[in-house]
Amino acid sequence: MSPARPRVVVVGAGFGGLRAARALAKAPVDVVLVDRHNYHLFQPLLYQVSVAALPPSEIAYPVRSIFRRQGNLAFRIAEVLRIDPVRKVVVTDGGEIPFDYAILASGSATNFFGNDAIAKVAFDLKDLPGALRLRNHLIRRFEAAIAAADPAERRAFLTIAIAGGGPTGVEVGGAVSELLRRLLRRDYPAIPASDVTVLLLEGGPRVLSMFPESLSRAAERSLAKLGVEVRTGTIVESYDGTTVRLRGGEAIPAGTLVWAAGVKASPLPGTLGVPLDRSGRVPVLPTLQMREFPHVFVVGDAAHLETPQGPVPALAPPAMQMGTTAAKNLARLVAGEPLKPFVYKDPGVMATIGRKAAVVAIHGLKLTGFPAWLFWLFVHLMQLVGFRNRVVVFVDWAFQYVFYRPASPIILSIEEDALQNKVLDEPARRM
Ligand SMILES: Cc1cc2nc3c(=O)[nH]c(=O)nc-3n(C[C@H](O)[C@H](O)[C@H](O)COP(=O)(O)OP(=O)(O)OC[C@H]3O[C@@H](n4cnc5c(N)ncnc54)[C@H](O)[C@@H]3O)c2cc1C
Repeated sequence: MSPARPRVVVVGAGFGGLRAARALAKAPVDVVLVDRHNYHLFQPLLYQVSVAALPPSEIAYPVRSIFRRQGNLAFRIAEVLRIDPVRKVVVTDGGEIPFDYAILASGSATNFFGNDAIAKVAFDLKDLPGALRLRNHLIRRFEAAIAAADPAERRAFLTIAIAGGGPTGVEVGGAVSELLRRLLRRDYPAIPASDVTVLLLEGGPRVLSMFPESLSRAAERSLAKLGVEVRTGTIVESYDGTTVRLRGGEAIPAGTLVWAAGVKASPLPGTLGVPLDRSGRVPVLPTLQMREFPHVFVVGDAAHLETPQGPVPALAPPAMQMGTTAAKNLARLVAGEPLKPFVYKDPGVMATIGRKAAVVAIHGLKLTGFPAWLFWLFVHLMQLVGFRNRVVVFVDWAFQYVFYRPASPIILSIEEDALQNKVLDEPARRM
């Protein structure tokens, strides 16, 4: 790296940060990419890890391998504690990193809406350790169900409630229901399949509210076929590890609650010292710069950009597109050229329901069922970082599809998983 060139610090090696760092490959700058993990995580497939359908290493790719050939980039693994746009330093647990320009791509966190009791005992799907904890927990619930003498207790162990009927809730619901029933039949024949209950609890009038209504209904039908009980207009108020309480007073004994009911920005934008939106995102100019600090760009789930069609959604495609635009604008800023506004090219929305169905809405085209699932599979495989991951995931899925053998239906501690997959770096927080 040359001391004479401007230094750009990119915070976050997720969808937005990765694209930004790549798009700076030929710019006359030195790039420092910082992330708390040494891998890029393909979050849309996290739920597959949580149901033991894929091992973690197939949806995580080492950052150093991705950037092996990018000469102007250095990767640092560190927890970023705050960003000081006035002093132009990123403060990490390993010291300060000075910058001339910064791109913040720190993504989002689960929003429990201040309900700390739920946060303590419910499972969310935001990172690999979390997905593995859910996988281990589900398998432990099976074992507890086998040991339970009381049928009501056994049914409670085998009741999985999912709060939130967005794409994550729908995907988890379908996959969990399918996995549980098949795994039970194969490995726990003493447990009747009718003892398993998978509940998808959605506060609004329909699941997948951002999809056309006909696709929401198709998703509900596909979920019902997989044995998922969908309850709309249902708000979860509390959970203590054994009982879900709904608004209105109903109590449901359940051994597992998966929280897929909300996201907010990660805490880092809060350290910038500027007003944020209600979800903790940084309002940005159309060029993706901060209004107060034009040398700082914000992209992906951490950014709030208003457009005539409404705010740009917190999804992977906008994060990737924003990453590229921010990097190009940054290069223009360095060169003294005029910056260009971000224009979102909406590729549509899709969600999968079990192994054979999905719903897809793309530019007026609506697909449901198996054709939609094939489309979903193709799009997600193409987006997976690295040729090896694409091939391995495809072979795994094809194998699963034919034989339906969940990839790793054994209980591993997080440490064992880390050794096995060599990509994890977080200690177990809850087992
Ligand atoms: C379970 C799940 C399923 C999803 N499914 C879909 C889907 O099907 N389709 C879709 O389009 N979108 C989906 N999304 C949303 C999509 O993943 C996000 O919109 C996208 O990842 C946002 O990209 P980003 O770059 O802003 O943040 P991320 O990809 O989340 O990357 C943020 C990065 O910043 C790092 N980071 C954060 N804080 C710090 C810190 N303090 N110090 C160091 N590093 C830090 C993180 O480790 C991470 O690597 C899903 C999300 C989840 C959780």
